[in-house]
Parts: sequence; C-alpha cells; structure tokens
Amino acid sequence: MKTILWLQGGACGGNTLSFLNAENPDVLEFFSYYDVKVLWHPSLSLESGDKVRELLNNIVDMKINLDIFIFEGTVVLGPNGSGKFNMFAGRPMKDWVNEISKVANYVVAVGDCASFGGVPASEPNPTESTGLQFHKKEKGGFLGKDFRSRKNLPVINIPGCPAHPEWIITTLSMIINDKLTEEDLDEYQRLKIIYSTTTQFGCPRNIYFSYKVALKEFGHREGCLYFDLGCKGSYTKSPCNVILWNKQSSKTRVGTPCFGCTEFDFPTFNFFVTEKNRSGIPKRLPLGVSRGAYTTLSAVARASAPEFLVKPLIKKKEDRGNWLE
Ligand code: SF4
Repeated sequence: MKTILWLQGGACGGNTLSFLNAENPDVLEFFSYYDVKVLWHPSLSLESGDKVRELLNNIVDMKINLDIFIFEGTVVLGPNGSGKFNMFAGRPMKDWVNEISKVANYVVAVGDCASFGGVPASEPNPTESTGLQFHKKEKGGFLGKDFRSRKNLPVINIPGCPAHPEWIITTLSMIINDKLTEEDLDEYQRLKIIYSTTTQFGCPRNIYFSYKVALKEFGHREGCLYFDLGCKGSYTKSPCNVILWNKQSSKTRVGTPCFGCTEFDFPTFNFFVTEKNRSGIPKRLPLGVSRGAYTTLSAVARASAPEFLVKPLIKKKEDRGNWLE
C-alpha cells in the first residue's frame, strides 16, 4: 500500500478539480487499483482541526509513513517571510511543507503554481509566493536547488493551469510502481514522456502555421493563432493536442490561443496578442527556429501557400451573417 498526502497552498484548487475529472481510471478506481491510501486531501477528506494537526505531526515524526507528498499552489512566504498569509493547522503552511518534504519518499508539485510560482508569484507578488523547487525559471524555489526527497529525487513537477488529469495519473502511477527515475525528467523536472513535445503537435491548425496563414480575428476554424493572436503553442511543452481535454478538445481546437501554462514564465498577461518587433516578426519564435531561418522560411511559405488554405473553406454569407454558403 502507498500513502498520499495532498495539501494546498496559494492555489485556486483547479488541479484538484482537474484530477477529479480523470476517467479510465477515475480517481477512485485509480486509488483502489494501486492500493493507495489517501491520508488527507483538503477537498476529499472529512477530518479537520485537531485530527489533521495530529495526522501531520505523526507524518513529520515518521510515525506514519508518507510515500507521496503532493502540493498544489504556491508556497506563500508573506508577509515578510513569516508565511502567515497562509496559516494551516495552527502554523504557516510553509513550515508544514518544509518538514513534510523531508520525510516523504517523493515530493510532487502539481500545477504551474506549485512547480514555478505561476499566477500568485507574478510581479509584484504581494504574497511572496514561490514554487516548491523553482521560482519561475530559476531553480531553488522554497525547498532549494539541492533538495532531494527520501528516494533521492528532486521535486517532480506536473505543471499546467491546471495539469491534465492523465498527466497526474501517469506520473503518480510511475511513482507508485517505482518506475520513475531522474532520467525520466527534463531540465524543469517534468516527465519527459508528457512534456517533450509542444502544444503544436496534433493541432489541426498546423498546416496554416506551416504556410504562414494567419488567423486575424477569433471565431474562425481556419488560420493559425501564432502570428497575430498570441498563441504560444509553438514553444510551449505540453501534449494538449495529443492527450485531449475531456477526451475531445484543446484550446487551439476551439479557437483560443495556447497560454503557455505548462512553462515557467506563465502567465505573461498578454494572452491574445502576439508581441512583435519593429520589423513585424514575432518576438518569441517557434522552438529551435533562428530569426534568420524564420524570415527566409516564412516568405517562401507564404508565397507557396495553397489556395484552399488562403481562401476561407466556408464563406460567410454577408446578408445572413452566418457561415453557410
Ligand atoms: S501556433 Fe497555436 S494555433 Fe498555430 S498551429 Fe501552433 S498550436 Fe496551433
């Protein structure tokens, strides 16, 4: 039997909600199949008050074995490093996080906030929030860059706003089966099998991206959202167009730009506009593409775009204002 403790810091609880959306298996099937005992979870457990405090003290004193400590949200250090903005079971949550991380076999950061600081840690960061082992791009965060859990692994990050339930279940099942090693993690301590490709993999707008056919306004199925409408899918590591949300869709499939929520620099506060330099080239280029190559290739691509991509597939009928010809 493996034990899990899930705590929440500076968070909206979205990762818990996402986890509860898991299907095949759902969370109860998952817990029962792997013989997991959830010691406590803020939304799923009945215990409160003294009982939770006693449980946490027993974990810290190692009277109860803790296999996986999952933390959702930021570690809140404010005001002035005291952590008192986020009290829990009689103490600043940061103190529990510090002590529990030392005794857990594995420490998992679920969501972008716990991984990198996410929304709460954005400037001006009034709550003095930080991620468990990263503060944005910088390694360190709350636990420090040298932190290792009892199984000699750094914090395992499952970023996303929220993380997809299948990413959480996959990561946890690898941990439970003792199959997760350091080689399985990328430089931001994310599972490579989940975070090795960009959001663009599987995006149905990819052909428009290739021929540089830009979507100019929202609400159309045709055109790529990268060139004008802020899509970060070409440089964000996530499988959102491969492991679909609710098993059927993704942001870019419904016409919303990728916000880059699995990355350390999320959020950028500029979700719907592509920032460009003076020559009109996007400031952030697709992963691995140089500025020179981008300029050359995009001119060729645009000039050779097939007509069926440039003209709308379905014309808008002016007088009726709908999308049927
Ligand atoms: S930039 Fe965005 S919309 Fe365009 S192909 Fe990539 S993921 Fe899809």
